[in-house]
Amino acid sequence: MASLFKVDINKLKGVGTRSAQCLEKLGILSVGDLINFYPRAYEDWSNLSTFSAACGKKEQCLRVKVVRECTGQRIRSGKMLYKVEVTDGTNIGEAIFFNNRFTPQSMKNGNFYILRGAVKNTGKKYEIISPKVKDVGSGDSIFPVYTQTSGITSNKISNFVKVALDMLPEHITETLPGWILDKYSLCSYDFALKNIHFPKNKEDLKKARDRLVFDEFFIYQLGLGFIKKQSRILTDVKIKENNTQKFYKFLPFELTNAQKRSIDECVEDMISGKYAMNRLLQGDVGSGKTAVAAAVSYLVGKNGYQVAVMAPTEILASQHYNTFCKFFKNTDLRICLVCGSLRAKEKKRIQQEIEWGFYDIVIGTHALISEKTIFKNLGLVVTDEQHRFGVKQRSALINKGISPHTLVMSATPIPRTLALIVYGDLDISVLDEALPGRQKIDTFRIDEKKRTRALKFIEKIVNEGGQAYIVCAGIEENENDIVDVKTYYDKMLSDIFEKSYVGILHGKMAPNEKDEIMERFIKGELKVLVSTTVIEVGVDVANARVIMIENAERFGISQLHQLRGRVGRSEKKSYCILVSNSKSKDSNQRFGAMISSNDGFYLSEEDLKFRGPGDFFGTNQHGVPNIGIPTKYEDIYLVKKAQNAALDLIDSGIDLTLPEFKFIKNKLSKSFELNGANSGQGVIF
Ligand code: ADP
Ligand code: MG
Repeated sequence: MASLFKVDINKLKGVGTRSAQCLEKLGILSVGDLINFYPRAYEDWSNLSTFSAACGKKEQCLRVKVVRECTGQRIRSGKMLYKVEVTDGTNIGEAIFFNNRFTPQSMKNGNFYILRGAVKNTGKKYEIISPKVKDVGSGDSIFPVYTQTSGITSNKISNFVKVALDMLPEHITETLPGWILDKYSLCSYDFALKNIHFPKNKEDLKKARDRLVFDEFFIYQLGLGFIKKQSRILTDVKIKENNTQKFYKFLPFELTNAQKRSIDECVEDMISGKYAMNRLLQGDVGSGKTAVAAAVSYLVGKNGYQVAVMAPTEILASQHYNTFCKFFKNTDLRICLVCGSLRAKEKKRIQQEIEWGFYDIVIGTHALISEKTIFKNLGLVVTDEQHRFGVKQRSALINKGISPHTLVMSATPIPRTLALIVYGDLDISVLDEALPGRQKIDTFRIDEKKRTRALKFIEKIVNEGGQAYIVCAGIEENENDIVDVKTYYDKMLSDIFEKSYVGILHGKMAPNEKDEIMERFIKGELKVLVSTTVIEVGVDVANARVIMIENAERFGISQLHQLRGRVGRSEKKSYCILVSNSKSKDSNQRFGAMISSNDGFYLSEEDLKFRGPGDFFGTNQHGVPNIGIPTKYEDIYLVKKAQNAALDLIDSGIDLTLPEFKFIKNKLSKSFELNGANSGQGVIF
């Protein structure tokens, strides 16, 4: 199998230059790639219907006998129309083909065929228009449907796959140990590869699909398992005294129980163990993660160690700096901000002072802190919005020989059923309590016709001293009729708002331009911000009270919820307006979920039902499984199975240098880019 990845796709029998180009567009460069190009869906030809039962429904399959062979006639448009008269045993009907002579002419009198298409009744007779046709007797009843692109049809790809599968050796080497296959009732890799393309029946297809989906989750879980083992590092950081209670008095508010519990969990990790804390703080947007980070920073700072607080952007770093300065005003801990706009000389001075241990808490972006800064005695690293950092950066610190405690904060709620699995390498604390006094964000769905009214509403909020976000999916005018930032700013707003207090923000702007706009919005100089989804995830503007999302149908539940989290950050009522003309059931269900709930954890469960677990791994930066098979809600059981199997394998003391684990080892290093990384703790691939 491995060697087939070295055989160029144009070497496959029947694939000419043109087809090769088309396949390339689908990412298929080698014969191996083609075999790993799994069908997007399957057509089931085993459920047979009749003319009368199929009439008016979507595509159905009919088993028919030809009673009159093909006749052709030219119709007004100049096209040719071909008819074949067939019977389903009870009724007679016509199969109608346009401009396609070959198929109808191959259908012979008295022979049986299966037709697949939509049936209608013209009043005089039944018709099935442009049906797909297969011979009865091929035995197969499930056919693969591949993602196609212009110039190559699913059928053609299917034919190529057949040829490619024939090039495989009789039996493909198994990639998993036999005892794992037995214990978790999995089919062989060989069976899976063949049956994912051409299954004889649904049972075989399920077996094949389960195995391949399992494999991807399994590699992921195995990687996490190793990382967890690896990141259980001994630490010299000794936290002796728990003084967090003292810190609570400095805060301008009473902490929620969830915040206190999370702080206690961190204290527990750091005080008791000889191992470094490695904890994730998961909380919905606006659940008050920063205060938790501050309390934990106080603990470590007062115990004589330095703390690094890393944010993904300068804006967030300076926001944290301001918040920390407020919280720590009456303490004796010293805080500094390392930011890109510092002049070189000043930056150097601050960095020297950090190295001497003058500062207790150092706040900055990840790049600024990890690159050049040397700490005197780093005891804790807090990273905010961790999905942007990921494990690579973390292992970089560890590899520098520093073993501080780490706390990562994520504002992407993950379904409870998946959290332990997606973040398998971390201990987790959850902020699942709403902050006191916060009102539900009222969410509405409108269509375009009501936009002007909605804008008037925004005007009213602005007049009351509030601020608003308007989110568009496009930057510039486009063919797809997606509402865009520029047109919005230039035309749609100009009747209502004065341009002087409206700002625009999108990904094509230079970083300093973006920062400037964002800062003006934070300061309140700008009242309305028209933006793509680049608005900072962590930005906390208490005055922002409306967010209007155009083309809301283009966003998933989690993304809509994240965007909505930009408002509702004070005790005043906030609003979220979803603008969409979409009538699709899918988007209506998503909007319904958004309207009915403000709870990120609940919504993420709903999202899981729509998207399946595969997508959720994308919110974490580890080797994201790329299964090539869309996952479904029900696949959660496979994720669990994979996690158990991975732990079994690690517990068995698997030695990845053995030849039989070559496949697993290669996949692991590819997904995690951690090959060779070794923290000196013995494990690793
Ligand atoms: P996120 O979890 O999204 O990072 P923040 O930490 O930015 O949320 O907190 C959102 C806002 O709520 C901040 O203005 C913060 O000061 C405030 N806040 C945090 N905890 C509490 C609390 N227990 N009571 C009242 N306000 C709080
Ligand atoms: Mg935050």
